[in-house]
Amino acid sequence: MSSEEPVKTICPYCGVGCGIQVKQGEEPGDVQFMPWGDAPVNEGRICIKGGAATQVVDHEDRLTDPLIKEDGEFREATWEEAYEMIVSEMSRIRDEYNPDAMGFFGSSKTMNEENYLLQKLARRYGTNNVDNCTRMCHASTVWALRTSLGAGAMTNSMEDLEEAADVFWIQGANPGEQHPIANSQYFRQAVLEGATVIQVDPHANKTTRSFKIDETDRHMHLQLKPGTDIPLLNIVIKTILERHEEEPEKGWIDEEFIEARTEGFEHLKETLEDFDKEAAAEECGVPLEDIELAAEKYAMANNSAIFTGMGMSQHTCGVDNVQNEINLALITGNLGRPGTGVNPLRGQNNVQGTCDVGAMPNVLPGYQLVDDDEARKSVEEVWGFEIPDEPGLTNVEISHEAGKSIQGLFIMGENPVMSEPDGNQVEKRLEELEFIAVQDIFMTETAKFADVILPATTWAERGGTVTNTDRRVQRMRGVDKVHENTKHDLDILMEIGSRLFEEEKFRFEDVEDVFEELRQVCPSYHGMTYDSLGEEGIHWPCYEPGDEGDLFLYEDGFETESGLGQIEGVRHQPPAEVPDEEYPLLLTTGRLEEHYNTGTMSRRSPTLNRQQPENFVDVHPTDAEHYGIEDGDMVTLKSRRGAIEVKAQVTEDTKEGVVWTTPHFAAASANRLTNDVLDDRAKIPEYKAAAAEIAITVGDGSAAEPADD
Ligand code: SF4
Repeated sequence: MSSEEPVKTICPYCGVGCGIQVKQGEEPGDVQFMPWGDAPVNEGRICIKGGAATQVVDHEDRLTDPLIKEDGEFREATWEEAYEMIVSEMSRIRDEYNPDAMGFFGSSKTMNEENYLLQKLARRYGTNNVDNCTRMCHASTVWALRTSLGAGAMTNSMEDLEEAADVFWIQGANPGEQHPIANSQYFRQAVLEGATVIQVDPHANKTTRSFKIDETDRHMHLQLKPGTDIPLLNIVIKTILERHEEEPEKGWIDEEFIEARTEGFEHLKETLEDFDKEAAAEECGVPLEDIELAAEKYAMANNSAIFTGMGMSQHTCGVDNVQNEINLALITGNLGRPGTGVNPLRGQNNVQGTCDVGAMPNVLPGYQLVDDDEARKSVEEVWGFEIPDEPGLTNVEISHEAGKSIQGLFIMGENPVMSEPDGNQVEKRLEELEFIAVQDIFMTETAKFADVILPATTWAERGGTVTNTDRRVQRMRGVDKVHENTKHDLDILMEIGSRLFEEEKFRFEDVEDVFEELRQVCPSYHGMTYDSLGEEGIHWPCYEPGDEGDLFLYEDGFETESGLGQIEGVRHQPPAEVPDEEYPLLLTTGRLEEHYNTGTMSRRSPTLNRQQPENFVDVHPTDAEHYGIEDGDMVTLKSRRGAIEVKAQVTEDTKEGVVWTTPHFAAASANRLTNDVLDDRAKIPEYKAAAAEIAITVGDGSAAEPADD
C-alpha cells in the first residue's frame, strides 16, 4: 500500500479498539499519528497511550536483523540461517522427544490471522501446547462465561450499555485508566444522563475520581480487602433474596426469568442458607449497610450491567468470582437485553480475537473444544491433517514444565519474564530449555534468553483484523515497512510452516487469504469478509454472509447444553497466601494509564515515560507510620519470591494492611513478587494477592527493621 496517504487502523494498546490513522512522514521511518474523526468506536477521541502509539514504530531499539546466539552472545544472521536453525531445532525436538515437548505462545498484540496461523502451526506440529496472554488476564472469566452462558466474551456492547444501562457495577476493573475512551465516552455519557456507578475495588483510582464517586450519594465505592469478592457478592445476593421474601411485589429478583431461563437457583439458595452477612462484611472490610445499599441500587434499577476486570479474574478462585457475578445477573434477569449483562473489559487490543481464533490449549477456532470429536473433525476437513485430541498445557504450565516435559519454546510477541508471576523463577526456567525462538519488535526481557530472534514489523506497518472487547472485528491497515530487513509475523509463520512440513497448507496469497480460511473454521466469524467488515467492523456472532452481528447476546436463550443460564452458589476461598508474622502485609497489583502491561512499547514512548518514569508502591498512612515511611522514601518491597526497590506513595487510595504496586517496570516489576499459584480450572495465576513486607531501603540497598509500635 502507498504510504503517502493516511491509512485507517486500530490503536495497538487496549481492547476498546479505537480507530486512528497513521501516515508516513517526509523522512524515512517517520510514521505519524493522525486522528480518525468518524472512527466507529471513538469518533476521533483518543487517550494518552493511543496518541503516543506511533512513537515506538521507528524507535532506536527496534530489532532490524535476525540474531543468533553463539557462545552466549548474539550475532547478526541472515533470514536463511535463522529459518534453518528454527526448522532444524524444532524437528530435532519432535524426533528426540515428542511434539508435546514444544510450547507455542501467541500474542494479543498481533492480529487474528497471525494467531490463527500460529495455533494451526502448533497443531500441525502435533501439540495443543499453544496459549496466549488471556491466561494472565481473563482465562477465568472466559471459562465462567462460556460454561454458564455460552460465549467467553462481553454479553453486551458499549453502545447498548451507554444507551440503556441505569447502573454500572464495576468490580475489579479500572476503566478510568485501562479503558479510558470507554470510560470517558460511553460510561461517562450514561452517567451524565443519570446512570449510577458502583465501584467494587480495593484501590481508589482514576475511575473513582472520574465519576467523583466519593463526592456524591448516588455513586458508591466499596473498598473491599483483596480476595473477598465472593463474600461481598454473597452479601449482595443474600440481601436481594431476603428483601424479595419481605416485599415480592417490588420484584427484587426476576422469578419469571429464573423459572424460564435458568437452572441451579436452589443450589444458590442452599449455599447461602447458613451464610452470615455480618461476619462476611467484617471479612470484606466494608460496612454491611453499604453493601446492602449497593444491592438495592443494582436490584431496583431497570437495567443493571456488570463490568468485570482482572481484580476478579486473577485469583485462585477467579472462575468462582465471575460465576458469582453471573449468579447476580441471572437471578435479577439482567441478561439478554440492552444495558445489562456481565461484561469483561478485555486488556489488549486483540486478546478477544486471539482467543476467538483458537490460540488456546483446549479450544480450536470459535471455542470448539479440542476433545469434541465432531468439532475437531470439522476443522480437520479444512486443514487436511489430524489435530491432537487432548487439551495442551497453558502458558504458565509450559513455563513450569521447562526442562522437564518441555524442551523448546516458540514465542511470538510475548514477554513471559515480565508478564508471568514470580519472574525470577521464570528466568531460571527459560535457562533450562534446549531451544527458544522469539519473534518480536524489541529485545525484550524474554528475548535475551532466546537462541534465535526474528525481527518483526510493528502494528503500524501491516494489515489484518483485530477483535475488540465488545466482539467488534475491525481491520487494521499499515504504512510501508520502516526497516527493510524486518518481516511481517504472518510471513514468518508461513515460511516456517512451509519449511517444517514441506507442504502448501501454510502458503497463502496474503492476509485476506488467511482470513478466508479462518472464517471457514470459526462459526462466529463465518459470515464476515474483508469487504463486509469495511470501516465499521462487525460484532460477532456473524454466522452467515449478510448477518449484521449482535450488539448484545442471549435475547432468546443461552448457548449452554440445556439452553439455560447456569446458576451455581459459591463459597469464600481466601487467597493461597495470606499475611503472617513474617510477611504481614497483603500485596495487590494494578496497572497505570500511562503504561501498558510489560512496558515493552510504553516504556519506550517518550511521552508516556515522561508522565510516569518509574514504579512506586501505595502504602496506607497508618502502615507508613508503623514502618517509619514518609511519602517519597525508597522502600524495599518483599515477598517470598523476591524483592524490588520502589518509591513509597503514602495514600489512602489503598486500605490499611494492603500495599499496591504495578508490573510495568522491568527490575522493579510487581511480578518479581507475585505468586504463581493457579486457579485449578482456568489456570490463571493469583496476581492479586500475596503476603509481603516493606521497609525503608538503607544505604547498602538492604531493608531497615520496622519501627516498634
Ligand atoms: Fe487506544 Fe484504548 Fe486509549 Fe482507545 S482507550 S486510544 S484503544 S489505549
